[in-house]
Order: sequence, then structure tokens, then C-alpha cells
Amino acid sequence: MTKKELFFKLKEQLDILYKNPRCTLDYTTPFELLVATILSAQCTDARVNIVTKTIFPKYNTPEAFASLSENQIAKMIQSTGFYKNKAKNIRNCAIALVEQHHSQVPDTMEELTKLAGVGRKTASVILGEIFGKPAIVIDTHAKRLANRMGLTKESDPVKIESALRKFIPPEFQFDFCHRLVAHGRAVCKAQKPACEICSLNEICKHGIKTLEKTKK
Ligand code: SF4
Repeated sequence: MTKKELFFKLKEQLDILYKNPRCTLDYTTPFELLVATILSAQCTDARVNIVTKTIFPKYNTPEAFASLSENQIAKMIQSTGFYKNKAKNIRNCAIALVEQHHSQVPDTMEELTKLAGVGRKTASVILGEIFGKPAIVIDTHAKRLANRMGLTKESDPVKIESALRKFIPPEFQFDFCHRLVAHGRAVCKAQKPACEICSLNEICKHGIKTLEKTKK
């Protein structure tokens, strides 16, 4: 089976399992999503949502964040971890948006990844979620599942992204990654994938091997 054929078989099942994959970060504007995504590094989306729920009603524009000191931002985001770095990045990102982008979140990978704290993963979230552009988001779940399923052997997120781009048609990229994340949270967990009950276990490389072992 080619990688493309494998992708379509996996997609068929994941589409049934997760009908409406959605971003689990709460936001009402592109800038809010940008801040929330920066905060989500090494932190759960649930924790980020708790934190942003108290921040965004008061501060939710690049101007507002640019007017705060790093310390002020750090205090508000402390419970998301790595807060000093995140505070510095969010402030610098906000300043750059005000000074170079008319306070608007840009819509290209090139411009997004020039912003402080914005790597390819964050940029891809913005491109897919806000602008509806093709985007492959490789977070810890997508990375783990793509490997287990046999879609790639790469371990570096940038290499995984370019490997998947070769056979996943653009229109399916963003939703497929959302579904990988949903499946990673629900069934294919990092510690122990529940292959026995997984509906992908006759398609997924790791699942097939696991079933073979249990039959012996
Ligand atoms: S079969 Fe196992 S390894 Fe494959 S997706 Fe399902 S739980 Fe994960």
C-alpha cells in the first residue's frame, strides 16, 4: 500500500470517529488565537483556556499587549509554564504586529514565523484555523500518531510536515491533523495506545503488529 492509499484509509475511519474536528483553544479574534497558541507550548489547551478567559476580556489586541511590561504579562500567564519566555515573546510579537502589520495577524508562513514565539506549528494553526489555508500542524500527538500509523519514519516535526505534504492533498491537511490530535487524546495515548479497541487497528502499522502479537 502506498502512503497515499494508507492516508485515505486512515482518513475514512477518522472522519467517522471525529465528525467535526475543532480547535480546542478558545478565541474570538485571530490575535487571541495567536496568543493562545503561543501559550499552549508545553501546556494543555484546557489550562490555556482557563488563563485566557481572565485575560482576553481586558487585553486582547496587539496594542493592549504592547503597552504591558513583560512582568505584567508574565504574572497573568504564570500557570502555563515557561512564562518568562512566553511573556517576552507575546510582547515582542504584539509590538511587531503594531509596527509592521497594522495590528493585523498576517496570513503567510513567512511573515508569521518572523514573529517572536511563532514557529511553524503555531503559524500552521493560524493559517488553517483563521485563513482556511492548507496547513499541516505537527504537535506531539500528530508526530506520535503519524509514526505509529506508518505515515512517516521521521522524528523531526519539520521533516514530518514535508513528508506528509507529499501525499496528503491540500484540502485535507488541516482537518486530518486535527483528527490525529483528537485520536491521540482519546485512544492512541502516548503511554499506551489502546490498539485492541481502536477502529484503525487493521490499517495502522503499529495496530497491525499489536494484533498479530496478541493472536500468537
Ligand atoms: S491501532 Fe493503536 S497505534 Fe494505531 S492509531 Fe489505533 S491506538 Fe494508535
